[in-house]
Amino acid sequence: VVYDEVDIHTVLNGIMPVISSEATLHDITVHWEMAESLPSVTADREMLKQVFLNICKNGIEAMTEGGILTIQGRAEQDAEGEWIIIDIQDNGPGIPVHMLDKIFDPFVTTKANGTGLGLSVCQRILHEFDGTIRAVSREDGAQFTIILPC
Ligand code: ADP
Ligand code: MG
Repeated sequence: VVYDEVDIHTVLNGIMPVISSEATLHDITVHWEMAESLPSVTADREMLKQVFLNICKNGIEAMTEGGILTIQGRAEQDAEGEWIIIDIQDNGPGIPVHMLDKIFDPFVTTKANGTGLGLSVCQRILHEFDGTIRAVSREDGAQFTIILPC
């Protein structure tokens, strides 16, 4: 399969209207903290949209009493190359420690009408582009970090 050179700003701009209206409905403010220019990644634009949409929706669903969804994007260089790092953070209840290593498995859900497929699909898509996803949970919410090679 041959993938495209994808600009992350284009991907996020594409889902911004959906995220914004969904957030407004739930009393949530979205903070966008994106570096102005980011290198492109070799990937499929629509699949990446799906990833960011899933993670943002989970964050919004977690903040049942409103809150702040922060989306940060930056590029980093290390010995292995250059990476785009996107952090998506909410200030909902967070993820219980015993759940942290299970949430990426298919059909794991704590929601009455959840499919439990969102995160497993996200992980599969990111692996396809040699990327990864990690979850961190604190008392003040959950943070998902998406890492993609440039
Ligand atoms: P679904 O959203 O259908 O439940 P996902 O795979 O997207 O399936 O998420 C799996 C589970 O991970 C969720 O049911 C929830 O328990 C947990 N989870 C995911 N994102 C968050 C978050 N931002 N805050 C708290 N829990 C989360
Ligand atoms: Mg989900």
